[in-house]
Amino acid sequence: GVVLDGVSKRYGAVTVIDRLSLTIAAGEFVVFLGPSGCGKSTLLRMIAGLETVDGGEIRIGARRVDHLAPGARGVAMVFQQYALYPHMSVRENMAFGLRNAHVPADEIDRRVAAAADALEIMPLLDRKSTQLSGGQQQRVAIARAIVKQPDLFLLDEPLSNLDAALRMRTRLEIAQLHQRLGTTMIFVTHDQVEAMTLADRIVVLNQGGIEQVGSPMDIYLTPRTEFVASFVGSPK
Ligand code: ATP
Ligand code: MG
Repeated sequence: GVVLDGVSKRYGAVTVIDRLSLTIAAGEFVVFLGPSGCGKSTLLRMIAGLETVDGGEIRIGARRVDHLAPGARGVAMVFQQYALYPHMSVRENMAFGLRNAHVPADEIDRRVAAAADALEIMPLLDRKSTQLSGGQQQRVAIARAIVKQPDLFLLDEPLSNLDAALRMRTRLEIAQLHQRLGTTMIFVTHDQVEAMTLADRIVVLNQGGIEQVGSPMDIYLTPRTEFVASFVGSPK
């Protein structure tokens, strides 16, 4: 699992994450839900090791990781801006990290094929990533993260660039992946419907702190603050 213990982040004089503590069980699907600017991406980037931590501790499994390099944390992240390598084909994008990690070629082929099949991007494998639509790039970014077989999967608004139909299908694929792989997942969104349909537990964030943690039903039916009630649209 993942433990955040009093984690803080400051940019200059501004505290954007304020002594946040949270425990996530191994295999759990947790959604960070909150408005724009509340600190969701910052928190995810700290877990991934792409942002330094100004206070507190982060543990993944049994290891303290907040001083480890991103590559040593067993984490794969899908970004809000999918960040594919533009000069590479889809296949190369997916294989690149594995080749660097000295995964055998036949094993790479097997993982790429399985992930491409799951995300329905088989026909795109030999295209350059610049020749894809935004939605296709987003699916490639998810597939590229899956092939790493991480212990922890971090997804930052991975569906935001998809049209309604594709968003629904990809959401379902992510849920199925979680069921199939059993990987711990943290999924960031500001969309309460996405949160309700995907999460084992929802963490509602506001201004760098936790408003409430609970099952989707908990959050929806017994919101603990006005903020939570209005953000998730709870019945009055
Ligand atoms: P969104 O839903 O719009 O992606 P978010 O919840 O992911 O929002 P963050 O990107 O984590 O929000 O930003 C949290 C706060 O930190 C915001 O107020 C933002 O302006 C500030 N912030 C983020 N990155 C930096 C930075 N490099 N320097 C200064 N302030 C920053
Ligand atoms: Mg963000």
